[in-house]
Amino acid sequence: MAEKIKCLIIGSGPAGYTAAIYASRAGLQPIMYQGGQPGGQLTTTTEVDNFPGYPKGVDGPTMMQDLENQAKRFGTDVRFGLATKVDFSSQPKKVWIDDQIELEADAVIIATGASAKWLGLEGETTFNGLGVSACAVCDGFFYRNQVVAVVGAGDTAAEEASYLANLCTEVHMIVRRNEMRASLIMQERVKNNPKIQIHWNSETEEILGDVNGVTGIRIKNRENGATEEIALTGFFVAIGHQPNTSIFKDQLDMDAQEYLITEKGSSRTNIPGVFACGDVQDSIYRQAVTAAGSGCMAALDAERWLAANHLH
Ligand code: NDP
Repeated sequence: MAEKIKCLIIGSGPAGYTAAIYASRAGLQPIMYQGGQPGGQLTTTTEVDNFPGYPKGVDGPTMMQDLENQAKRFGTDVRFGLATKVDFSSQPKKVWIDDQIELEADAVIIATGASAKWLGLEGETTFNGLGVSACAVCDGFFYRNQVVAVVGAGDTAAEEASYLANLCTEVHMIVRRNEMRASLIMQERVKNNPKIQIHWNSETEEILGDVNGVTGIRIKNRENGATEEIALTGFFVAIGHQPNTSIFKDQLDMDAQEYLITEKGSSRTNIPGVFACGDVQDSIYRQAVTAAGSGCMAALDAERWLAANHLH
């Protein structure tokens, strides 16, 4: 038999926990399912220096534990489990956890975030944590005074290349076209950095390595087919993020990149009673603090919707 819930929160990044804090203080007795990566992307970060209120910075996992404790303090029921299926076609909404547990929720707050995209090379799996990373800020420290590569040509790749150039001896930027997508100021920054070498029109064919991890990469020029091996120990993939929205397909409106669409100035999706916050609906700002702010919006929107529909 399905468990009945007034306010279900799916996802446990800054958006989910902030929604939980507000929803529990409003008496919505929220239940949160944390998802496959409890605490979200910030748990893979070392130092968070740009979240207001931490003058000395805070490490990502500590911040997420603080947020969890704060949500629990007001009564949020935090549970481990991954939402694997939803049916928003009727009221209450149906949600399945780990393909087994069935829930019926009056209001649902989606805070499932986004995940880093990968190239699809075998070496990305073989050497994950052994030289392959999708987060320079998290892992760059381990490659001090070494040679690394960054794949991608957007703002993230440019930012990561600049960040790594401060730590490493050489940074190879692998760009698949003959131009970059990053903002001009970021492009100038990487082009003017003597430690960064840009390989235009290039794709990574293979990540080379041994039992100790990555030892190099082989890249191929897409124009003339020439290949080149570069000896390095760190390979950073920065080709964008994919919002975690696959279970909402055909039910919630999404944009071309599959980010959930919310009504301007609110967290409302196209289904009444379903709200979205954080990176799952934000391809632009993607910051912990903006995610937290939108989590607050989602809880307030949910509370108002429940009250207006005599469900609270
Ligand atoms: P983007 O989608 O902007 O860029 C992704 C980059 O990866 C593109 O250059 C793309 O190449 C490249 N790419 C994609 N797939 C592959 C592949 N298979 N092989 C090789 N290269 C590939 O993602 P970002 O994460 O960089 O940025 C996301 C958003 O966040 C943007 O709006 C950005 O402006 C913003 N942002 C802002 C920052 C800031 O203002 N400080 C910092 C970081 C992000 P191609 O160009 O050929 O398509």
